[in-house]
Amino acid sequence: VRYITCRYDNQEQVGIELETGVCLPGLSNDSAAKDWPADMLQLIDRGPSFWADLIEWLPSLTDCVVPSTSVDYLAPIIRPRKNIICLGLNYKDHAEEAFKASGKSVKEQQHPVVFTKSVTSVNGPFGNIELDDRITSELDWEVELGVVIGVGGKHIAEENAYEHVFGYTVLNDVSARDVQFRHRQYFLGKSLDGACPMGPVIVAQQSLPDVHDLTISCSVNGETKQSNNTSNQTFNIAQTISILSGIMTLEPGDIIATGTPSGVGYARKPPEFLQVGDLLKSEIEKIGAIENKIVAAVQ
Ligand code: MG
Repeated sequence: VRYITCRYDNQEQVGIELETGVCLPGLSNDSAAKDWPADMLQLIDRGPSFWADLIEWLPSLTDCVVPSTSVDYLAPIIRPRKNIICLGLNYKDHAEEAFKASGKSVKEQQHPVVFTKSVTSVNGPFGNIELDDRITSELDWEVELGVVIGVGGKHIAEENAYEHVFGYTVLNDVSARDVQFRHRQYFLGKSLDGACPMGPVIVAQQSLPDVHDLTISCSVNGETKQSNNTSNQTFNIAQTISILSGIMTLEPGDIIATGTPSGVGYARKPPEFLQVGDLLKSEIEKIGAIENKIVAAVQ
């Protein structure tokens, strides 16, 4: 199942992406579709039995399938309830390039590096990213696999972790490196408005059993900058959920960004940063691609 949030006929809708188009049960007159959730968080809150049931009755809804070209894809969760939880240095090759770029010796990660991005950084899968030269001259890319929590919990064991996952999405942890390193904590440099484009879909956990064997890549103006595989994460999704929930309660709708592989701009020689006019494309096999144009901020 491929869940989307979109705008159709000037209304926000939660829908399901099909091969034949987009199913928007909110438009259906079928009795099965009454009380269809108004947004993705409400859908997630309905819980696993609702998600399982809808697979049964969705195919019978024929009065609400529209062409995919008639909808505007929005961030699957437009306004998360809490900051996006992010892992840093969670691919070994990226950890190595990051340590080298800051002149430090390479250390093995004993514990995940964890920080957050503000909810106001959320951007649509095809939304523009504003580059504001009053804030940064070092805007950088980080393609990441996003995990959306479906069932909350605390002290979740690794072997039960996937029961708590709603699904997976593509996101880019766009980072202002000058701000990130100047303030010591990552939060500000990771939280610029629009610096967390995500989507275009959330693929249901059950539909993606091979989540740790997916090609993950990022390009700028068609030139590949990052290309890797989700099998190379230092802390896998089950470990990450276990570690995070061992300290704080995870809740339905929480988003975890699982870290980026090597090839980020600031670690390149010479360093490269995003410029106005650039097209940033972030892609994960079997989930999809998001494309974001860098535009000048209106000042
Ligand atoms: Mg990151």
